[in-house]
Amino acid sequence: MIGSATKKIVRILGCNPGLTTGPGTNTYLLAGDVPILIDTGAGVPAYETAFRSALAECGLNRLEAVLVTHGHRDHVGGVDQIRRIFPEARVRKMSRPAAEPLRAFEPLRDGEKVMANGLAIRAIFTPGHANDHLCYYLEDDRVLFSGDLILGTGTTVIPVDGGDMAAYLASLRRLLELDIREIYPGHGPVIDRPREYVLAYIRHRERREEQILALLRQGVRDVPTMVKRIYADVPQAAHGLAQQSVLSHLIKLEREGVVTREEEAGVSLFRVR
Ligand SMILES: [Zn+2]
Repeated sequence: MIGSATKKIVRILGCNPGLTTGPGTNTYLLAGDVPILIDTGAGVPAYETAFRSALAECGLNRLEAVLVTHGHRDHVGGVDQIRRIFPEARVRKMSRPAAEPLRAFEPLRDGEKVMANGLAIRAIFTPGHANDHLCYYLEDDRVLFSGDLILGTGTTVIPVDGGDMAAYLASLRRLLELDIREIYPGHGPVIDRPREYVLAYIRHRERREEQILALLRQGVRDVPTMVKRIYADVPQAAHGLAQQSVLSHLIKLEREGVVTREEEAGVSLFRVR
């Protein structure tokens, strides 16, 4: 259990450890008269047991709402499980730009507030890792539930599908405008020096972009070779994900007019303009 200034926040692990999820997805139960669950894990059967014991521990027999940070499987996959237990709970998330599958999410907009136990939780649109990504800001506690925008360990993948590096950096900078005491991430431990952490995240991406530009100037033009060079000390198993993030950097640079791309035998080759 995690201490909180004015209420109880219980972390329930999604029981889905893995390469992209670390120890598993964090879901957070905000206990009280109007209980709220943030994210639902991947839909692993063991999660239901963990969820039920957290309810029992908090003496809860109802759930007001589920707030989903984004539509990736490891955050939204447990929605049906929760619905079976609490059919009346509202399930809310930001609508996707493209049509959402018919799963009856109640849409949430940027800036919209959800009340829980007399406290406001503000939805903050933070695209970049996913185009439907919301962080949830518990204003009175100055706690931010960051989904996959910020992780407790490592950095987040910016996928080509639904991701956007420029939007991601803008979302990180948006966090600097908030007065945050603690960040409760979608994966990994709580972050208690949020400003430093967010600034380090921004610097990390800026450095990565500089590395990519340096490689381009040395004549390295394709993503797999760049990843081999930049991620030499990272296990091979993670290189596929790293390729996504590097390509997202290159797409950003291409949109900014800094690099050009040409296709050769199905391979994208980049060069500095
Ligand atoms: Zn995600």
